[in-house]
Amino acid sequence: MPFASASSIAAGVRAGELRATDVVDEHLARIADRDAEVHAFNLVVADEARAQAAAVDEAVAAGRDPGPLAGVPIALKDNMCTRGIPTTCSSKILDDWRPPYDGTAVSVLRAAGAIAVGKTNLDEFAMGSSTENSAFGPTRNPLDTSRVPGGSSGGSAAAVAAGFAAIGFGSDTGGSIRQPAALCGVVGVKPTYGRVSRYGLIAFASSLDQIGPFTHSVADAALALQVVCGHDPLDSTSIPEPVPDYTALLDRGVEGLRVGRITDLPEGADDDVVERTEQAFDALAAGGATIVDVEVPAFTYGLTAYYLIAPAEASSNLARYDGVRYGMRVDAPDTNAMYTATRTAGFGDEVKRRIMLGTYALSAGYYDAYYGKALKIRRLMADDFARAYERADVLVTPASPSVAFPFGSKTADPIAMYLCDTYTIPANLTGDPGLSVPFGTGADDLPVGVQVLAPALGEPVMLQVAAELERRAAAGGEP
Ligand code: GLN
Repeated sequence: MPFASASSIAAGVRAGELRATDVVDEHLARIADRDAEVHAFNLVVADEARAQAAAVDEAVAAGRDPGPLAGVPIALKDNMCTRGIPTTCSSKILDDWRPPYDGTAVSVLRAAGAIAVGKTNLDEFAMGSSTENSAFGPTRNPLDTSRVPGGSSGGSAAAVAAGFAAIGFGSDTGGSIRQPAALCGVVGVKPTYGRVSRYGLIAFASSLDQIGPFTHSVADAALALQVVCGHDPLDSTSIPEPVPDYTALLDRGVEGLRVGRITDLPEGADDDVVERTEQAFDALAAGGATIVDVEVPAFTYGLTAYYLIAPAEASSNLARYDGVRYGMRVDAPDTNAMYTATRTAGFGDEVKRRIMLGTYALSAGYYDAYYGKALKIRRLMADDFARAYERADVLVTPASPSVAFPFGSKTADPIAMYLCDTYTIPANLTGDPGLSVPFGTGADDLPVGVQVLAPALGEPVMLQVAAELERRAAAGGEP
């Protein structure tokens, strides 16, 4: 790993062996050096970060506990509300809107001693798979700047890959953490729906959205989850269950675990990705896991159901941007004309496409045929996965069908872009957790991510399997 891990930073700062101010300065220097090229950030908050780091150092000097993420530089996706700090969703419609409150994830991270260095770029309103839909220009993949970092949380994935922050946070509605993690060669976790509070996460599709971390290692992901997971009375969909110790199983290996291989997985992954995924099964079998074949017939309908449910929810959630309550307004002679002018100027093409799709799917006469049918598929999907999890502790699939692709290669064809999320979407529809862990490289030496899926609240076993893949990839056991 070319950059210091979050775990080592926190341990060093807590022990008084590292100064948070030095750690933050080092990360800010890397940002100053390279973010003009990468454009991971919409906004860097250097002064605030330095002041918070100084406060952490003071706490350590005074013998107070600075928290489990003491001095760890973090990057926050720009759809996470930060009090008094612009939160744009990379949309013109929210330009310069400053939330009057911090989201719960943001406040628990601060209380844990983490230092936010900035707000990261995303596809507008988290709609996309390449970060090319940002109103403020794309983010570049730090591993090859002619390629996309994935999306929609491309800025946070790139920030971690470039060493701008030790942990990035993103949101995953259909794959927006796992797919960019795969393309940038970092670990990315979508926790169980309801495990991390959505309070203060700007809504895209409320029944699918979930916050999660990007990290350099599985152990760092466990550390990050330990802080952000937990019940929040401010989010009515938050799970009122205690948070287990996510590090407990990391060193245990996979002896005796049942790893499911989905035999009817939709096709479309590139050969290099398929090959690496096969090697992941071999590596887990070598570690003592049993590979079991399972069927998940509804998997293949995931994308179709998602592109009705997600736009339907988005069309409703985005109705609030009316030129009255948030951000920009384009004046016009009457109220309706003002709404139209504001939304026409404020939203980009992809967001408008989703609003139109969703409005249509929910309209009288079409509701049952489209939205209602998609909900039935969602039910079938949950049943299929539940059956698979009777026979397997986890399932392993590719995370993204391809390695990082060149800019512009999918922008003219929305369906080609949507296909990036073929393997990640089902876990959003079921609410189950999923992660992407780097496992070797594919075409052009670019990283390949392997996805590990687990049943609801199965984060411990999911992390256990990911840790084994990480060890075997590092050992060159190859991968
Ligand atoms: N790429 C998917 C979409 O465009 C998923 C986005 C996400 O997870 N936020 O909707």
